[in-house]
Amino acid sequence: MEFHINKDTIKDEGKTKIVIPKEMWKVLNPDEKFVIIDKGTERPFTGKYYDFEEEGIYVCKQCGAELYSSEDKFDAMCGWPSFDDVINKASVERVLDKDGVRTEIICSNCKGHLGHVFSGEGFTPKNTRHCVNSISIEFEPRKKKEEKATLEN
Ligand SMILES: [Zn+2]
Repeated sequence: MEFHINKDTIKDEGKTKIVIPKEMWKVLNPDEKFVIIDKGTERPFTGKYYDFEEEGIYVCKQCGAELYSSEDKFDAMCGWPSFDDVINKASVERVLDKDGVRTEIICSNCKGHLGHVFSGEGFTPKNTRHCVNSISIEFEPRKKKEEKATLEN
């Protein structure tokens, strides 16, 4: 299944909340369900994106909402993909964990579990680390400059 319905939101700093209807969501397999619905955590250094550096964007596995950009990805050596920013602030919600200590991050469209967000660790100047399960997201290669050139022609 392909998701190409909200390309205009790349780096939309506004608060536009993207709504992707449930009919377009992906049917999750048991491994995906374990993390995305049941809020499990994939084992570190096992996901497909912790050691992955291609240019593009990461969309929500379940609903296809655009969440993270490779521009904001960094290696925190923790075994999960890490980002210090989101594409659109309205696309990722923060929720205090049941343990009252950590802050969970979920997709604001489908409420799927992404991982946790930490701050004050000093990894990057933004001082924020979205620690995301690879299985919660899907990479889409995108060469922005070329795409822009095509649009202008
Ligand atoms: Zn989602």
